[in-house]
Amino acid sequence: MDRRELGAGTRVVRAARSLPPGEGQPVVPPLVQSVAFDYGSAAEQDAVFGGDRPGYVYGRYGTPTTAALERALAELDGVEAATCFVTGMAAIAAAVDACAISRGGRVVAQEDSYGQTRALFDRWVRERGADIVFVDTTDHRAVEAALRAKPTTLLYAEAIANPLLRVNDVATLARLARDNGASLAVDATFATPVLFRPAALGATMVIHSLTKYVNGHGDVMGGSVGGSTELSRAMRDRTILDGAYLPPHEAWLTIRGMRTLALRVRRQSGTALVLARHLAEHPKIARVHYPGLGGHPQHEIATRQFGGLYGGVVSFALRDDTKEAAFRFLDALELAASATTIGDLYTEVLSPPISSHRRLSPEERKRLGITDGFLRISVGIEDQDDIVADIDRALDRV
Ligand code: PLP
Repeated sequence: MDRRELGAGTRVVRAARSLPPGEGQPVVPPLVQSVAFDYGSAAEQDAVFGGDRPGYVYGRYGTPTTAALERALAELDGVEAATCFVTGMAAIAAAVDACAISRGGRVVAQEDSYGQTRALFDRWVRERGADIVFVDTTDHRAVEAALRAKPTTLLYAEAIANPLLRVNDVATLARLARDNGASLAVDATFATPVLFRPAALGATMVIHSLTKYVNGHGDVMGGSVGGSTELSRAMRDRTILDGAYLPPHEAWLTIRGMRTLALRVRRQSGTALVLARHLAEHPKIARVHYPGLGGHPQHEIATRQFGGLYGGVVSFALRDDTKEAAFRFLDALELAASATTIGDLYTEVLSPPISSHRRLSPEERKRLGITDGFLRISVGIEDQDDIVADIDRALDRV
């Protein structure tokens, strides 16, 4: 190469491409916002592409910052490996499609799962002829009957289901799945790794929407699938070819948010229990759904499974079980946001029939108990008395 001095145009694009060497480990993982990775040796690059050596080549194959989050999630959930996606839905789609649907495998799924998970499965039935049946996964006889009806590849359930907050007995579901030759996927978004580790109870796959509690600040979307090394290879193939891999900046923010996950979830669970007990006594409320209440149908399972915490979401139905009453309640909130998410620092209230469960037919919503006056509260970390006062004020207007 010509050894003459490089021009300014060349020097600026080549300048500051790496950090100057120096001692000292950063206490925060670096945000490596690089799509591609340079190799001095083509043989080394070949070995990384071929999977013979660990390393990074291109944004969809893995990035150091996303990998740091994946390692942390695997450790938190006690699984061999985790893979991150751009949203929780992307994680669910990749996991269920790779492990069952794309191979013609049958799925037995929770009937009252997150509305858009249910809508995605319904769409696969309609558009791809997928064999997916929906059951009440808290009814173990019904689960067993569904698993025995035909060879099944995957049993799919949420640890604490959105929005009715039914609690699944993961150890029992894992046993039923195993006895019938199926795997068990658990969406643990509402429970978080703070309440329990589904893999320790026999789940083969642990899914999180990182958008919710794990990040917890309402500024990132993401999802993850954790399980065996073999599963992570299948998930990596999905990120490379389907392209829904979590970019490094989102991963970096999620790592930062995750540092306070245990603090937040413990506080939110404490406030949610107080709020649920308060709502259970309120004259304008017909029924309260919260696993921490003694009358909740899975209260004992929840206590055993989650070690005394019950999560930060409380659902209830107004006595005036109409859309108009629900809207009056939402419009009267001063502190809580009327917003379609959960798990943030801020208290958020939602009408599932107009949002997350809008795609379900009115008849199916009614059958499940997601009536027009049904509301879901995700408790934030604000002062407990202020949250209760805001909800009370809004109930006064119903
Ligand atoms: N799983 C559960 C239980 C959820 O509540 C949600 C979203 O609300 C999702 C998955 C989907 O996550 P995302 O919105 O990150 O795609």
